[in-house]
Amino acid sequence: MTHVHKAGLRNWLKGIMLKRVHRMITCEEFEDFVLSYLDGELPYRQRSVFEWHMKVCRECRDYLAAYQRATELGQAVLLSPHEPVPEDVPEDLIKAILDARTR
Ligand SMILES: [Zn+2]
Repeated sequence: MTHVHKAGLRNWLKGIMLKRVHRMITCEEFEDFVLSYLDGELPYRQRSVFEWHMKVCRECRDYLAAYQRATELGQAVLLSPHEPVPEDVPEDLIKAILDARTR
């Protein structure tokens, strides 16, 4: 019997789901949508597809949560530049976020 790694099996199942389900987006597209989603700029149809992906994909849920936290921290830094940045936040991350928001 062929040995199937658990993570491999999960990814395989996910791949099938992503392909089969109508109008499903990929994880790459999910990342592209994150900014518009958080800004409330996603049209209704895209938003429902985006939220559906979030339900079936744990990686993207974690990604969004991390992104939201980083964005909040980035804004806090922007609003009060004299406050010290929390130590668990890499400075590069905040810079990247601020750059992306002001582009
Ligand atoms: Zn995903």
